[in-house]
Amino acid sequence: MHRISRRDFVRSSIVCGIGASVMSCIAKVQSTGQKNTRYIAAYDTESPACLAACRKIVEVHKRFEIPATFFIVGKTLDANPGEYRQLLDLPLFEIATHTYSHQMLRDNDFCGSAVSMDERRKEIFKGKEAVERVFERPCIGLRPGCGFDNALKGEAEVLELLREAGIRYVSSLLWGPDYSLPALLREPFNYEAEGFPDIWELPGHGWHENLLKDHNQWGPRRLTLWPSPFPQALPDGFCKTPKDEFEVNKVFLNRALETGKSFVSLIWHPWSLHKFDSDMKMLELTFTHVQRLGLRPCTYAQLYGQVSGLDRS
Ligand SMILES: [Zn+2]
Repeated sequence: MHRISRRDFVRSSIVCGIGASVMSCIAKVQSTGQKNTRYIAAYDTESPACLAACRKIVEVHKRFEIPATFFIVGKTLDANPGEYRQLLDLPLFEIATHTYSHQMLRDNDFCGSAVSMDERRKEIFKGKEAVERVFERPCIGLRPGCGFDNALKGEAEVLELLREAGIRYVSSLLWGPDYSLPALLREPFNYEAEGFPDIWELPGHGWHENLLKDHNQWGPRRLTLWPSPFPQALPDGFCKTPKDEFEVNKVFLNRALETGKSFVSLIWHPWSLHKFDSDMKMLELTFTHVQRLGLRPCTYAQLYGQVSGLDRS
């Protein structure tokens, strides 16, 4: 192993934290420039309280010059179209759909059963239409409400609707095995096995942050897997402070870099972030860490461009 100067060690220790895998993190930090691991800030924007929250969120993004993808529920967007357009219509941001009214596109153990095929068609088509009408730009991505532990595998009918609508990527793998949390650091894949090689799955990772704070008021639930594939990512209890939340985030950011993942993206909700931390301190801590690690910030659309081979930059 090559020698590490004390200065490098101190700097790297600040960045990586002291843990079992600190040496591999240090090795990554020692090489110069940005790393190959991308970082995507993404927001499931889905309720009336999200508008005030997005005002705060956008300010932090402008300050850090970090891009983001906003997955917006069509109904939420249609309630305040002018405000959302004014706030989010920046080159820094991708606007994608979070369906029209957050109905289930397949059965979810926690959020309920799938709606009828007619309803699913409406959720997909109307959701995309709302984004394109309000922002006057193409909407190529969809994140279904709640997400699933098996993505859209085996759901050829839903994939056919997505193809027909012109959706290029979905972000539906948002849970760990057996509907556990956290969602593991899964890589992108396409739906070739279902007959849709041009539709990509770009998962989300980590906790649904609202559940970390008991914002759904579920109380204690059977959420984690045993034996745990990622015990370091299980906090002892609900997060109490923005720092607590950042410490959880850091585990995923560091691990993605250490294991050479193509990207990492945590599952965030504006209403819940604002309720817990109206000054958005957690965002500042997280973005500062992203920059220290040298992760490459981008949007889901940009990740899609990379994995699909449409963008070779
Ligand atoms: Zn949602």
